Amino acid sequence: MGIERWGNPPWRIDFHPAARRLPREVDFAIVGGGFSGLAAAAWLRRLAPQKSVAVFEAGFIGAGSSGHTGGIALGETAAGDLPGLGDVLAGYSTILRTLKVNCELSLGGAYELARRSGLAEAPISWSDSGNLRVAKEIPGGSVNPGKLVSGLARAAQRLGARIFDNARVEDIAPEESVRLRVRGAEVRARAALVATNALSLELSGLAGRAQPKFTLAVATEPLTSHQLDALGLASRKPFYTVDLPYLWGRLLASNRVIFGSGLVHLEDWRELEVLDIAKGEPAELLALLKRRVRGLHPALRSVKFTHQWGGPMLIGENWTPVFARHPRSARVLVLGAYSGHGVALSVYLGCWAAEALLARRSVPDWNQAPGAGRRV
Ligand SMILES: Cc1cc2nc3c(=O)[nH]c(=O)nc-3n(C[C@H](O)[C@H](O)[C@H](O)COP(=O)(O)OP(=O)(O)OC[C@H]3O[C@@H](n4cnc5c(N)ncnc54)[C@H](O)[C@@H]3O)c2cc1C
Repeated sequence: MGIERWGNPPWRIDFHPAARRLPREVDFAIVGGGFSGLAAAAWLRRLAPQKSVAVFEAGFIGAGSSGHTGGIALGETAAGDLPGLGDVLAGYSTILRTLKVNCELSLGGAYELARRSGLAEAPISWSDSGNLRVAKEIPGGSVNPGKLVSGLARAAQRLGARIFDNARVEDIAPEESVRLRVRGAEVRARAALVATNALSLELSGLAGRAQPKFTLAVATEPLTSHQLDALGLASRKPFYTVDLPYLWGRLLASNRVIFGSGLVHLEDWRELEVLDIAKGEPAELLALLKRRVRGLHPALRSVKFTHQWGGPMLIGENWTPVFARHPRSARVLVLGAYSGHGVALSVYLGCWAAEALLARRSVPDWNQAPGAGRRV
C-alpha cells in the first residue's frame, strides 16, 4: 500500500502477526487492520470467546490512516453529536482500559484556535494569515498512534483473534454465508465487517458515496521547554483551527511538535497506491506547511523538521461517519469515513460494530443511502 511513498511518522508499529495458513471458515471476518478493524476483532473475542474471528489486512497492521494519523483524540464526530452516539471519549477510555492498551492516552483537553475570536488570556498567539489564538478549550487529548495500533492488535491476538497481514480481500460475495476471496483463496464467514476506510471503496460499497483524500503532516526536532513556553504549548494540549487555512498539531512525549494541514483531492482511491509525498502537489503542500510553521512564531523561525508524511482519509456525506449494512448484504457491516475525526471514534464504533455483529446492539440510522440495510 504505497507506504514508503507516504513518508515516515515519528512512531513505530511493533506488532507483526505470525505467518499462518488462511482459515477456510470463520464466524466473523474483519477486513482492514486499522483502529476500527482491530478494535472490533478484540471486542468480538472479548464478548464471544467461542466464536472464531479473523482480521485480513492487505498490507501491514496500521498501513492506512491509523499508522499515519496525528493522534488527536476528540469526542463526537466531524458532524457533531449524532442520535444515540453517547460519550465517545468516556467509552474510548473504558475500552482501552478494558483491552489493556497502553498508548499514552492523555485526555487533558484540546484547544480550538481562531483568527477572529481569541480569548483575552489566550496562551497561544501565532501569526498565520492573521493572529491565531485560542478561542475555546474542548474535551480531548492525544495518543501515541503506533502504540495504539500495536496495542489493539496485541489485545485482539491475546483474546484469540487471528490476524493476517499481506492478506488483501479481493472480493466479497454475499450468499447464505459471506464468501471472501483472500489472496486468491476462498474464506467463508457467517458475517463480516469491512473497515477499509479510504481504500477498496468498491469492496465497501462506498465508491461515489464518500470522498477519498490525502492529508499531510510534519514533526519538528524536540523543542526546549523554553520554546514550548514561548509557543504557549507548555500545557501539552493538542490544537486545531476552526477557521481556514486549516492547521492542527500536538506534542509528542519527546517534545517534538507535529503540525498538519493540506488536502490532496483524489478522483479515485487508486491514486493513493501511487501517490508520492516527494513529488507534485503533496510535495508542494509539505513545503508550504513547513514555511507556515516557521512563520508562526519567532521560537520556530529556524526549527528543523525530522519527519514528514501523509495519509488517506475518507470524507463521508455531510461529514457523517459511515456505519451501516453493506448495500449488497445485511451480513456485512461497513464502518469508516470519519472525515479526519477517527482516532477515538474508530475504536468506539469498532466495538459497537462488534456488538452489532453479535446481534447485541443495533446499527445506528445515520446513513440514509439508497439500498443501505437491504437484505440480499
Ligand atoms: C495525516 C492524518 C492525520 C490525522 N489526524 C487525526 C487526528 O489527529 N485525530 C483524528 O481523530 N483523526 C485523525 N485522522 C483520521 C484517523 O487517523 C482515521 O479516521 C482512522 O485512523 C481510521 O481508522 P480505520 O481503521 O477506520 O482506517 P485505516 O487505518 O485506514 O485502516 C484501513 C485498513 O484497511 C486495509 N485495507 C484496505 N483495503 C483492503 C482490502 N481490500 N483487504 C484487506 N485490507 C484492506 C488498509 O491497508 C488499512 O490498514 C488523521 C488522518 C491522517 C491521514
